[in-house]
Amino acid sequence: INTPIRASSLLGSIGSQTYQGTIKVSVRPRPLSETASSTGSWNINKQGNIIANVEAGEFQYDKVFLPDADNSEIYRDVVEPVLEKCLQGYNGTVFAYGMTGSGKTHSMQGSETENGLIQLCATELFRKLNAEFNAFKVGCSYLEIYNEKLIDLLNFDGPATDDLRIRDDPTFGIRVVGLSEHWVASEKELIEVFERGDSARKTSCTNFNDRSSRSHAVLLMRVEMKQDSSTRHSTVCLCDLAGSEKASSQSERRKEGAFINKSLLALSTVIQKLSQGSFNHIPYRDSKLTRLLQPSLSGESIVSILCTIHLSSSTLSETINTLRFAARAKNILMNVRRNEQQDTDKDRYEQLVRENERQKQEIE
Ligand code: ADP
Ligand code: MG
Repeated sequence: INTPIRASSLLGSIGSQTYQGTIKVSVRPRPLSETASSTGSWNINKQGNIIANVEAGEFQYDKVFLPDADNSEIYRDVVEPVLEKCLQGYNGTVFAYGMTGSGKTHSMQGSETENGLIQLCATELFRKLNAEFNAFKVGCSYLEIYNEKLIDLLNFDGPATDDLRIRDDPTFGIRVVGLSEHWVASEKELIEVFERGDSARKTSCTNFNDRSSRSHAVLLMRVEMKQDSSTRHSTVCLCDLAGSEKASSQSERRKEGAFINKSLLALSTVIQKLSQGSFNHIPYRDSKLTRLLQPSLSGESIVSILCTIHLSSSTLSETINTLRFAARAKNILMNVRRNEQQDTDKDRYEQLVRENERQKQEIE
């Protein structure tokens, strides 16, 4: 997002390669907790792409996991294909969407006993960068959207910034002004930075569960990869979204539930419009989340959505809401440009890189 790389694309990309396809949508039911009353009798077909229930009907996706699938299985299906494309120079975005308690954070961050998609992605990213490229750079940013405020979670030393602005820069595109970026040289460093940011998130509030169900956490990895005669760029974005359930009580709705839902509601509207094939008047500006993700949703990124659901009958209506959201998202067509430049005119390239740096500092 803080990507001052458009100037270098003046060099011209190799061919005009684009990736076309629909958004990939997967559904992950979480195992029933011991207290859940009943399963609400969901069925998943043998091929693992249809989930059905007498009351809800039948829903088809790219993938429906079984409740006992582990994070590495989810990683292989949901994240790995996106990461592959990122290494070719496409941007990639993965969202976890679903009601509170359905397993978004369990999927993204894992548990004591199991790595999450973030750790698995970091490991694979550095393994592949080391194996396939002469040189590379990875910059990491981590932010939270809470009450329509954008908070930098990696601003360890700087002055407190709890409401960063988003700017649509004519040269650089959508940017978060002043968002910090940490250069990381290994998987270990990346995870360390992420965990530091995450504990900052946890300690910044009195009731973390409450806060995490109302806020969106967005991890950005900006990657620059060099081979003999070309440079590729890619931004990998991993989002753990706020709980998709409707605010339960009147007072909650009045207080901040409605506010949080402003971002999720806007996401849902944007997805709905895009899924109907319309590209004009998409209300990206209605919320911080959609504004931030505008480049991803409008075709600058390959998108994979993981929808997490409960199978218990007590949450049936929320589960149906999630499945409907997922079904709409599946219709969205992506047409994604590849970011790769031939280093034909080396001096000019380096001049542009310097220019980028200068402009970046100026903006910061
Ligand atoms: P969310 O982030 O969607 O609100 P969490 O990921 O925090 O939900 O999950 C709520 C609880 O359920 C956590 O205690 C988590 O460990 C557990 N859980 C969620 N999904 C799974 C799963 N697939 N396997 C085992 N435990 C899970
Ligand atoms: Mg969570």
